[in-house]
Amino acid sequence: MTELDQNQYDIIVVGAGMVGLTGALACVSEGSSEALKIAVIESQSTPPQWRPDKFDNRVSALTEASRQILSHLGAWDEIEQTRISPYQNMHVWDADGVGKVNFCAADIQQPVLGHIVENNLIVSALTHQAQQHPQIELLYGSGVAELSPFKNNIRTLELESGQLLSASLVIAADGALSTVRTLAEIELKEKPYHHNAIVTTVKTEKEHGLTAWQRFDETGPLAFLPLSKEQEGSNQRDNHYSSIVWSVTPEKSAELMALDEAQFRLALGAAIEFRIGEVLEAEPRFHFPLIQRHAQQYVLPGLALIGDAAHTIHPLAGQGVNLGFLDAAVLAEELQRAIAAEVCPGNLDILKRYQRRRRGNNRMMIYSMMGFKKLFEQPALPVRWARNRGMDLFDKTSWLKNPIASYAMRVNSNLPKIARG
Ligand SMILES: Cc1cc2nc3c(=O)[nH]c(=O)nc-3n(C[C@H](O)[C@H](O)[C@H](O)COP(=O)(O)OP(=O)(O)OC[C@H]3O[C@@H](n4cnc5c(N)ncnc54)[C@H](O)[C@@H]3O)c2cc1C
Repeated sequence: MTELDQNQYDIIVVGAGMVGLTGALACVSEGSSEALKIAVIESQSTPPQWRPDKFDNRVSALTEASRQILSHLGAWDEIEQTRISPYQNMHVWDADGVGKVNFCAADIQQPVLGHIVENNLIVSALTHQAQQHPQIELLYGSGVAELSPFKNNIRTLELESGQLLSASLVIAADGALSTVRTLAEIELKEKPYHHNAIVTTVKTEKEHGLTAWQRFDETGPLAFLPLSKEQEGSNQRDNHYSSIVWSVTPEKSAELMALDEAQFRLALGAAIEFRIGEVLEAEPRFHFPLIQRHAQQYVLPGLALIGDAAHTIHPLAGQGVNLGFLDAAVLAEELQRAIAAEVCPGNLDILKRYQRRRRGNNRMMIYSMMGFKKLFEQPALPVRWARNRGMDLFDKTSWLKNPIASYAMRVNSNLPKIARG
């Protein structure tokens, strides 16, 4: 690879997904970064299109902290005006007993527990903000092929098209199978969850009641995430739709994927114990294996990993992209501090500050998800009894339950500035 003076940036973000775009926008969101020049590289040829007539089958349950970040970056207004599904309750129960936990926004003096938003809408809204930003250049249609070592405070990237770009810092936001992470030879700890996630969108007989329903059985958790859309010809909301994330063993996944639509709807309705009536309609299903991944380091000189490029976790608590948004916001905060002090953004000491603030936190979430999954898989009677009893006790102990609900929403003070509102 030869270095070129042209195509030189301060920061190159690889991946124009939810986290990469958030990282790029967060880096230029403060006055001290006015002179920064950022490129965002995306292998897809165009950004995803949000469709008014159809829910995206990939959605995210966003915490309040994520909403604050998107709002600070100017994307929340578009998201809110387009389509959001707030939820006020979360009802979790054990299929194998009487254990249950109810979380309620009113109990923690909040209007909502969070919002379900379609992934393609989040990316669209962030893309529109990035397109309007004079310091950000979006380059679609060619992925990263090569990455040089950090030399003279510069890394050079070669794209699949042969184009060369260089920057003081490369931010890898290229998802779970990150090419940049591989090229940089960063070690990855990987562990299959032995679960496949089946995702689809359904219409139910009864309204969901702005409630996220989640039932655990020994084959895995099933979540009905409430979706809401305007009813045609009126200002009323139609609350009969839910996004499904059904995590099951690979054997059960094969069985469920083999069912025809009517059989699948019946199986799904029975699995959620018909809490919101029968499943009347189901979109085509998609399934994929769930794998826990954690990069053993998030940073190298001139390189930082964020979002799924750094970690992937089980979707049972819907935390993946929320962690990714916090990675992006914390990294941007540290970079702005460096830029104000005229330190190169690729400086390893600066990047290590980001790693210190995020890696332990993400690891704790990864272990918690593994713990939850294991707890609900246990067939032994004493464990099942203790689990059900524990859930019931927890549900009745508001001094414990409510702070945990607040923490899960990230309504606490240990946050990057832009996540605090
Ligand atoms: C079933 C399921 C349900 C989930 N539900 C939730 C939830 O409710 N709440 C939540 O917080 N999280 C949830 N998650 C996790 C969440 O979806 C991910 O954490 C999130 O999508 C990660 O975003 P990202 O931007 O890091 O990566 P991605 O969304 O994977 O984006 C990566 C981008 O990089 C691009 N790219 C890839 N390779 C290259 C390359 N070589 N060069 C250039 N560009 C490249 C891709 O095209 C893509 O645009 C769920 C996950 C699953 C599997």
